[in-house]
Amino acid sequence: MDIKSSIIERVRKQGRDILTEIEAKQVFQEAGVKTVETRLASTQKEALAMCSQIGYPVVLKIASPDITHKSDAGGVKVGLKNEAEVKQAYRDIMASVKEKYPAAKIEGVSVQNMARPGIEIIVGMYKDKQFGPVIMFGLGGIFVEVLKDVSFRLIPILPWDAVQMIKEIKGYALLNGYRGQEPADIPSLEGVLLKVSALVEKTPEIKEIDLNPVFAYKDSAVAVDARIVVEK
Ligand code: ADP
Ligand code: MG
Repeated sequence: MDIKSSIIERVRKQGRDILTEIEAKQVFQEAGVKTVETRLASTQKEALAMCSQIGYPVVLKIASPDITHKSDAGGVKVGLKNEAEVKQAYRDIMASVKEKYPAAKIEGVSVQNMARPGIEIIVGMYKDKQFGPVIMFGLGGIFVEVLKDVSFRLIPILPWDAVQMIKEIKGYALLNGYRGQEPADIPSLEGVLLKVSALVEKTPEIKEIDLNPVFAYKDSAVAVDARIVVEK
């Protein structure tokens, strides 16, 4: 069985409908979407060992099937440079999560590479009641939240659709390099859209997708956060 099917089966058996970040990233990797290396550590000691394996700087995030908005829970610490910072981050994350979500089941933390800064992109999918699965593309942060600068297409999309989706957002100029910022690798972003479309097309169990954010660089694109919701 492929990774995706066994993860979806496990999620359903456990009565969940949202994959953890680690599970979602495994599904995307299998589908050909690049993500930062992410592993589960169930104790502080395990987290420290993984950090020295992965190499600093690292990111620690709360790993809980009950928490999907990790930052809101005080569950994300980025740019940790050494053991002392990881120890402190682990304690802070656990303290904050216990206060804000006392009933949440905690698996530990995810340990991941600190990705270098890039242009933040969002790729999403939801199922419209009338039209079915829709794929969304936009720039991260205020562009999506405040300006609603996003483009949509019905799934499945063709390569031409991916090209157009990216070109038609108002912020497109930012992807071509702005004030000395490095331009984004547009073909990589088109690839992400096409792979998400293909994944959804062959996996009707998937109800919702959020790649938020994907960091775009001049020669690649990598997802640093991923969320998948499955049908009940
Ligand atoms: P949330 O569940 O709150 O959406 P995220 O995983 O998206 O949590 O993390 C919050 C922010 O932290 C991201 O928008 C991104 O800017 C930054 N971030 C997350 N993971 C990484 C990473 N591996 N490398 C660099 N920055 C990251
Ligand atoms: Mg996120």
